[in-house]
Amino acid sequence: MGSNAIFLSAMSVFSRCMGPGSPSISLNALQLQKRDAVNEKVEKGIYGFESVPCACCGSTETEQIAERDRYGLYFSVQLCKGCGMVYTSPRMTDAAYGEFYDNEYRPLYVGSERATDVFFAEQRNQGRRIHDFLRGAGVMRDAMKIVEVGCGAGGILDFFRSEGHSVIGIDLGSEYVAYGRDVHGLDLRVCMLKDLALDFTPDLVIYSHVMEHILHPLDEMKSIASVSGADTLVYIEVPGLKNIHKGYSMDVMKYYQNAHSYHFTLGSLRYLMESAGFGLVSGTEYVRSIFRLKWAGKVGLKGDNNDASVVSGGDSMAPSDVYNEYNSVRNYLVWNERYRWIFPMTVSGLKQRAKRWKNRLLG
Ligand SMILES: [Zn+2]
Repeated sequence: MGSNAIFLSAMSVFSRCMGPGSPSISLNALQLQKRDAVNEKVEKGIYGFESVPCACCGSTETEQIAERDRYGLYFSVQLCKGCGMVYTSPRMTDAAYGEFYDNEYRPLYVGSERATDVFFAEQRNQGRRIHDFLRGAGVMRDAMKIVEVGCGAGGILDFFRSEGHSVIGIDLGSEYVAYGRDVHGLDLRVCMLKDLALDFTPDLVIYSHVMEHILHPLDEMKSIASVSGADTLVYIEVPGLKNIHKGYSMDVMKYYQNAHSYHFTLGSLRYLMESAGFGLVSGTEYVRSIFRLKWAGKVGLKGDNNDASVVSGGDSMAPSDVYNEYNSVRNYLVWNERYRWIFPMTVSGLKQRAKRWKNRLLG
């Protein structure tokens, strides 16, 4: 009986996500080579790891919910028992991530060593989607001054430039920055936001799939606050943890990526942004979100976005209650784990299959 109880307590609902395993997505030869390179550096201790407390509530009381990512790399994911934030710990140190971004990140994630026209075109489409979301929320103005942090090759900014806005991008990946500068004539620089000397107040700051990579998100958000004015809008897009049932085939093992330190919901992102002085203007669990400094004191914008899942910050942009999503996040993850076999029958599953058939037919 005693040993049985021990066995049962160790058999968590997330046991599928524990221990070593093969990739959950298909990888090309370059990706496999880079994955092996990361594994080797982790095994040899070249990439160091550090344990961190929860960025939302400071607790270290957690439940381990995964031990590898979609590439099959060691990846320790914790669910905070204090507030429900899902984050990576132990995680690679600043120095290890620095080397990882230089050597393995883009080839592992994109599948090619250099920025390509295809990559740029995909970024440009992403620019159009961001533009549509902002327009749907009723916040786009003419001739905005836009700064994008983590711009890569600058495709997102290229779209905004073509719509008549002036744009500056920053990124730490010098090769991608050089591509956007040389091939597309964009104003892109290799630096971080805190080192960017701006002689104007931006109308819009964009973080597209960047915030989940940042090791100290609250510090970054305070940097955004320091360059923001009363009317500055901040657009943040991250892969939403509560979007697994739509975007990741209900399979959390397709969602986890070793470069992600935080696995945000709209709730946890909003809580951290509020801690840095921002109020939510509009947001979804995808996660697409728009923030503005709270002390701006303006009436919250009424979006004409018809998406029922859009959360509006409301007129007061009042702070949300003390953040605690523990039960809803855990129940959501357990539900996806138990019922992911129904995904092919869901609307998202059918859409995904239709898209695959369409691509096959169009060759
Ligand atoms: Zn917490």
